[in-house]
Amino acid sequence: MSDCIFCKIVAGDIPSQKIYEDDLVFAFKDINPAAPTHLLIIPKKHISSLNELADGDKELAGHILVIARKIAQDQGFAKSGYRVVNNCGKNGGQTVDHLHFHLLAERELGWPPG
Ligand code: 5GP
Ligand code: ZN
Repeated sequence: MSDCIFCKIVAGDIPSQKIYEDDLVFAFKDINPAAPTHLLIIPKKHISSLNELADGDKELAGHILVIARKIAQDQGFAKSGYRVVNNCGKNGGQTVDHLHFHLLAERELGWPPG
């Protein structure tokens, strides 16, 4: 999608602080962090939201969670804990229409979310 900011980040057209990249996914620091560690893990291909995730994307969806676990281990907050969040649509609080999973860590997070 030519006008999607996260597609532009994947392409390198918008700079980002990359944490991880492979054939399927890209992870980078959130520009407006809500926790000491706040990363975004996204599929490289454009999927607008969780609503557009297809039956054929099961491997990709599972891969995103495996990468979240790997990043938590590599960055040293696996034991202290973390949260993986997807905001979907208006009521979910989604503001960027490219599927992304927030990875928040290194502070005690409240529940339920606001
Ligand atoms: P959402 O509200 O859609 O779940 O999350 C979108 C996230 O993307 C927000 O936390 C916001 O700070 C982050 N974000 C928006 N634009 C940019 C950008 O250009 N670069 C980076 N690194 N993060 C962004
Ligand atoms: Zn996109």
